[in-house]
Amino acid sequence: MSELFRAAKAATMIPGAPVINDAAIIVSQGIIQKVGTYSDLASAFSGTTTDLGDVCIAPGLINAHSHLELAHLRGKCPVGQGFVAWVEDLLQQPIFDLDEGELDRAFHELKRTGTVMVGDIATRFAKHMAGALDASGLSFVVFVEAIGETIPKKKFIPKGEFDNGILSVAGHSLYTTHVDVLRAAKGEALQKGLPFSLHLSEHDDEVAIMAGEPSAFLDLLQGRGRLLDFAAPKKRPVQQAAELGLLDESTLAVHCVKVTDEDIETVRQSGATVCLCPRSNEFIGVGRAPWEKWLASGVDLCLGTDSLASNHDLDLFNEGVYLKQNFTGDLSFEALLAMLTRNPAKIMGVADKFGTLEPGKLAAFSTVPDKILELFTLSEAK
Ligand SMILES: [Zn+2]
Repeated sequence: MSELFRAAKAATMIPGAPVINDAAIIVSQGIIQKVGTYSDLASAFSGTTTDLGDVCIAPGLINAHSHLELAHLRGKCPVGQGFVAWVEDLLQQPIFDLDEGELDRAFHELKRTGTVMVGDIATRFAKHMAGALDASGLSFVVFVEAIGETIPKKKFIPKGEFDNGILSVAGHSLYTTHVDVLRAAKGEALQKGLPFSLHLSEHDDEVAIMAGEPSAFLDLLQGRGRLLDFAAPKKRPVQQAAELGLLDESTLAVHCVKVTDEDIETVRQSGATVCLCPRSNEFIGVGRAPWEKWLASGVDLCLGTDSLASNHDLDLFNEGVYLKQNFTGDLSFEALLAMLTRNPAKIMGVADKFGTLEPGKLAAFSTVPDKILELFTLSEAK
């Protein structure tokens, strides 16, 4: 049984393809069969027609960086006081008290705002989170976070079979995870052909720690008995990540705020994808990534909300609004939507299902809200 969906506009996100006016998408058993204009597709179609009305549809969104374990910290963390103060506060919070009610609220918010998939970082509850996401109907990569000095006896990634996603591994950061642990984690992801995620060059203390300069954050960590044998590589974070073999086509480098032109070129040459988290950076007060340089570099970009400990909501379109409103120069509708759809689909390994609206992919649509459409000229988005 086929169904035809009609919408005033469709941004298929197929590279170079214009927004379709008076669009139609024919779907059978949850899979897209045809995409075109209503006038081209309707005459030969016999089945149910659903008119979505005067809306612009787009592929379902992929939030490339979240920490849903922290959903219960919504509204509880300090805004704009800098990274060290934010972490000090976080360490006083009940970070491991999962709240199923708040988690459910987060899942509903994601779905309501057009998100169909998350790249989620899990510290203690990876299998539980994957199971909960599976049950919610959201697709996922849950990255088990490697942190500290110890390589696990078996593997980082636990066994688990899920309908809508997979488990992989992430390094927490260059300054909280031992270099041997980082190498082993990346090695396991590579060996299994899985995406790898890493918080990279997020804030000034990270740069200082890598350079071997004084850092309140390193003092905080070592005061808690962590990284006591840490040896500063005396390199910039991006250079250190590259030399450890952590950057390649299957790596998602998250934040990348404190970067030089040389760092950007290093990431570009590695083939890694960058996930920007603009509202999280603003919330914590670490500054802002050179978004314009990242875009101009040609590096594949994604957007992530990060956790509800450092953001007000999980609405990825709000991330897009914030980026567009604060961007200097031209950020096209196509470039922005690519960060929310086909770029994350590629790095998450799900480009066969998500990322564009074209035959053979899942019929997972989002509706582009007016708050996005009104930021662009009519010819681009209309
Ligand atoms: Zn994060």
